[in-house]
Amino acid sequence: MKNEGPWKERDNPLRAGREEPPRPQAGGKERDRRWMALALREAERALEEDEVPVGCVVVRGENLLGKAHNQVERLRDPTAHAEILALTQAAAALDDPRLTGCELFVTLEPCFMCAGACVLARLDRVVFAARDPKFGGCGSLLDVPATPGLNHVLQVEQGPLGEEAATLLKAFFRGRR
Ligand SMILES: [Zn+2]
Repeated sequence: MKNEGPWKERDNPLRAGREEPPRPQAGGKERDRRWMALALREAERALEEDEVPVGCVVVRGENLLGKAHNQVERLRDPTAHAEILALTQAAAALDDPRLTGCELFVTLEPCFMCAGACVLARLDRVVFAARDPKFGGCGSLLDVPATPGLNHVLQVEQGPLGEEAATLLKAFFRGRR
């Protein structure tokens, strides 16, 4: 089945026969909600700073390794998305550019740049709250992690607090008009 929904694991023939990455899901949905709530708090900080309200955390097990919000305006940097900043922090915390065994929680579907960065970082899992039909790189505009031929399997899913995350974004864009 090809079109069973953008966030499901794709039928990528190149993935066949490869081992599933370990799934660090202890605590399951409740744990996802806890980490996403922390990411949402970061998004609220972005809104206070008049940045597009997106927040992100990178964790390994129960350890918080990176926590950031979008700072494109403040840093005058088009790449200063929450995910990139949090990934940089996490890599520094581990002193390792490969974030094997780590998960990233972000309030908005990663864009194509950030989805690529998540693959390069060798993350195990990405959980996002709201979808981004305009720039989403995990199934909406593109599906970067499902690109055939990639040698890293990244588990991507839509998680909790999507409405809350979308409400923040709406508040921001309403204020801009
Ligand atoms: Zn991005």
